[in-house]
Amino acid sequence: MIEKAVDLIETLEFVLDYKRVPECLVKEKDCPCPPNDGDPMGCYVPEERKVYICIDRIKNFIKEYEIKCDYEMVRNIVSLHEHIHAYFHQKLGQFYNLNNHVEEPVTEFLTFYTIFSYKQEYINCFLQINKHLLRHYQYWEFIWGKSSPYITLTYNNEHISIKDFVSELLRSYNKEVVFKTLVETIVIILKHTVGKDWNTFRKEMEFSFLKVFNINLKISLLEGGVKL
Ligand SMILES: [Zn+2]
Repeated sequence: MIEKAVDLIETLEFVLDYKRVPECLVKEKDCPCPPNDGDPMGCYVPEERKVYICIDRIKNFIKEYEIKCDYEMVRNIVSLHEHIHAYFHQKLGQFYNLNNHVEEPVTEFLTFYTIFSYKQEYINCFLQINKHLLRHYQYWEFIWGKSSPYITLTYNNEHISIKDFVSELLRSYNKEVVFKTLVETIVIILKHTVGKDWNTFRKEMEFSFLKVFNINLKISLLEGGVKL
């Protein structure tokens, strides 16, 4: 069962059919990630199809921002975020050319949503880290509906957030089906808005999310849900 997955990356493998890329833990001198732009503690290098985790930067980040969770937990969260970039690369292929102001909040959203679905004890640590990242990394809150102006879905004649939509779905479908369908829906919307800015992505989410979601849900259920 999925609860016995060794780590969250294994969850992505089981539920999303993600093909795990190699992950290298490196000291500062071997860290290829730009220090002041983008992810501060690791990166996914598409040309190499590899995830790098920069251990000194994780230690410094914990110290500098007084993050109250242990090193392993922060490292696992950083690793999850980077593997989600790799997952986008696999799913988008030649279209993997996303606007950074869309890719980072969506990656943070899926990092949060994976934790929310499979490892809730990480939520507090995720929130502590996220608030010290660049502003657009916090836009995940608008996707989830944690803060306004959030993405609004019109469902059963009501305006609701994705957060409320997910809790509604969890009454009828199992967690894996909801998780897989939601993530795959977001990937399709990313594909439709490659290279476009945040507002275009946001409008596309509001405009076509439910339509794409319903198609994906039917496919998922016809396939017999998620095979584990
Ligand atoms: Zn990132």
